Amino acid sequence: MSKFFSSRLSSLEAYVPGEQPKDMAYIKLNTNESPFPPAPAVRNALTEDTVAKLRLYCDPEASRLKAALADSFATDASRVFVSNGSDDILNFAFLAFGEGGVAFPDISYGFYEVFARLHGIAAEKIPLAEDFSITPKDYFAKGKMVCIANPNAPTGMALSLEEVEAIVKSNPDSVVLIDEAYVDFGGESCAALTKKYKNLLCVGTFSKSRSMAGARLGFAVADEALIADLERVKYSTNPYNVNSLTQLLGVLTLENQAYYTENCQRIIEARAYATKALEALGFSVLPSSANFIFAKSDRIGGEALYLALKARGVLVRHFEKPRIADYNRITVGTLADMQALVAAVKDILSQ
Ligand SMILES: *Cc1c(COP(=O)(O)O)cnc(C)c1O
Repeated sequence: MSKFFSSRLSSLEAYVPGEQPKDMAYIKLNTNESPFPPAPAVRNALTEDTVAKLRLYCDPEASRLKAALADSFATDASRVFVSNGSDDILNFAFLAFGEGGVAFPDISYGFYEVFARLHGIAAEKIPLAEDFSITPKDYFAKGKMVCIANPNAPTGMALSLEEVEAIVKSNPDSVVLIDEAYVDFGGESCAALTKKYKNLLCVGTFSKSRSMAGARLGFAVADEALIADLERVKYSTNPYNVNSLTQLLGVLTLENQAYYTENCQRIIEARAYATKALEALGFSVLPSSANFIFAKSDRIGGEALYLALKARGVLVRHFEKPRIADYNRITVGTLADMQALVAAVKDILSQ
């Protein structure tokens, strides 16, 4: 740390992204990316002409992209926000709506705590139940911003739409942010509920189900006034927050929804296979509505399994944290990826 660093930030602990080792070719099941490439139309979109246009600034309003998103959610473009990945939207939302504090589950996406600290927001971490589920009434009438990943990460467990609505309804004077990064793998989106509740901010991403993690594109759907607040923060930070190539690829992605829906179906099938196969090997696997499973074995510790898998070329995510240190979060890839995972686990357990 330099002597110039703000004292307010001196205790900031940055978010640690999943490792991206380059020493060998891994089966990469550690950052919840899609194993499938973007749709052909997206892969073929970058013509010389498109790239030549990079000399111009991109459309700061992202009009075509917002119109396409609005269409897909049967809503108006004034109720849609886009940004450079959904992490960027979480950052803006904490800054814009977190003044009175924020409540989120103690075991959830690590960035919530980082953004709370970055903005000097008091964070209340609400413990998950014994079975790792979220108890909706713990979030009723909080009198502060509420932030919930649904499905939650790293557990993969989802709240029903009724449960989400009950939380939103009981907090009319604070923003309830529902982070739907994994909703397309079996959750229920609250996007349509934003027409009924002015305090609901529904956040999504193109990084997981839409095979575009590297392009950085996130979106939010909410009441017009909430969207206008986010726009104000965006225009005070970086008006050109979604580059022109990503805007174009985003539109093409939305035009090819059938391709992505089919890929989600394949992930759901591979998830069912992996869950069953690991359970047959004695693992406990939490019920997942996401593109990852959270699993532990009583025959090998979480960190030991993570290291043994890595040595065999399979990368998963281990969190050395209270209550979950015995578990690993395993991204669901193709069926072949999951078969390789199961073979590696069998090999490890037989040693
Ligand atoms: C992956 C993830 C995100 C971030 O996605 P980006 O759009 O790539 O920034 C947000 N929330 C949760 C819970 C995630 O797992």
